[in-house]
Formats: sequence, structure tokens, C-alpha cells
Amino acid sequence: MQGDIKSLVFDLDGTLYVNNGLGFAINLSACRYMADLKGIGIDEANMLIKETRERLSAKSGIDTPLSLACMEQGGDIKELHRGFAEDIQPERFLSRDERVVDLLKFLAGKFELYIYTNNNRSLSSRIMNAIGIAGLFRQVFTIETSWRPKPDRVTLEEILSEIGRKPSECLFVGDRYDIDLRLPAEMGCAVFLVNSVEELFPLCKLMNEENL
Ligand SMILES: [Mg+2]
Repeated sequence: MQGDIKSLVFDLDGTLYVNNGLGFAINLSACRYMADLKGIGIDEANMLIKETRERLSAKSGIDTPLSLACMEQGGDIKELHRGFAEDIQPERFLSRDERVVDLLKFLAGKFELYIYTNNNRSLSSRIMNAIGIAGLFRQVFTIETSWRPKPDRVTLEEILSEIGRKPSECLFVGDRYDIDLRLPAEMGCAVFLVNSVEELFPLCKLMNEENL
């Protein structure tokens, strides 16, 4: 890990918590939206979204975010997110993991912490409250920041400019390499891939390696 890291930029969903039930609820809400839009059933909408994601991913060579697949099928990203915010009760699925809360508090004493998520402001804030990490971040960049989901180079450049950091001063942390990390890595940021909450804990080592 480079010694000049000043800012840690975390993805939220699947990174600072992992919950299959909530992931399922988000997908179901997208299916409902596409079903209404196309006048088809929920199962058919599910297949349509899945096939669209696979087709776009095969074309681009990288994973496709759910919202991009819906937009490809004529969906409106603001409408989609309005549905998420109305349909989904994240509190039903989530609880605090004190290990994550303590880790972030520890890191917040040394680094500037940020969130950069494809989720919307309403759901992100309810999720952060439910898992006990609200208030630990200097800024939360949500889909409303640009209405262009990650990965998006222009939005990423705007975020780096907004936080006033060079790529070499940032470490990006996320659970999907193509969505969260590939572009920051290409721009010269440090990146850290996690597949579970447990895989976050080695970030503590940053405190010692920084040696300040
Ligand atoms: Mg994620």
C-alpha cells in the first residue's frame, strides 16, 4: 500500500455490509419497474434484465450495473431509483456489525472517509443508519451526484476534484472489481477488493504502514 494515502473511498452495498435479502429486494423492485414499463410479468422482467446484463457485459467485457441494464431497456434511472426508495425497507434486513463500526471509527481518525455508491441518497442514508456507520464519512456520493452509475470516468474525476485529492492519495474499496475498482486503478488510485466484511479488517494495517 502506498504511503501517501489520505482518502479512503468505500462502496456501500456488498462492501460495508453483505446481505442477500436486501440485494434480492433491490432486484425485485427493478423487476417490478421493468414489468410495469413493458407490460410483462415479474418473471419475464427478471429474465429480460438478466439477459440484458449478460449481453452488455459480453459486449463491454466488464460487469454491468443493474441500473444500466434497465436503462438499456428504455427505463428511466430516476424512476427506477424512486421505486427502490419507495419499495425497499433496508431496516428489515440489516443490523449493526460492531466490528465494522469500530474499524471505520478507527480509520476515520487517520484518513478522510468517503462513500461512492450506485445506490440513491434515501436508501444509502437508511442503510448507513441501520448498520451504525452514519456520520463517519466526510461526504457520500450517490447516484444523484451525476445520475451516471459507476463505472463512469467523468463522475470519478469530478469526485476526485471535489474531495481535492490526486489519484495517488486515494484508496478505493469495493466488492465488484469492474464496477468499483477498475477505473480508479486505471487512473492511478490504490484499490482494495473485498468479498466479505471480514476482508475489510486488514485495512487496519494501513494505520501502521502509514507510519505517521
Ligand atoms: Mg457493491
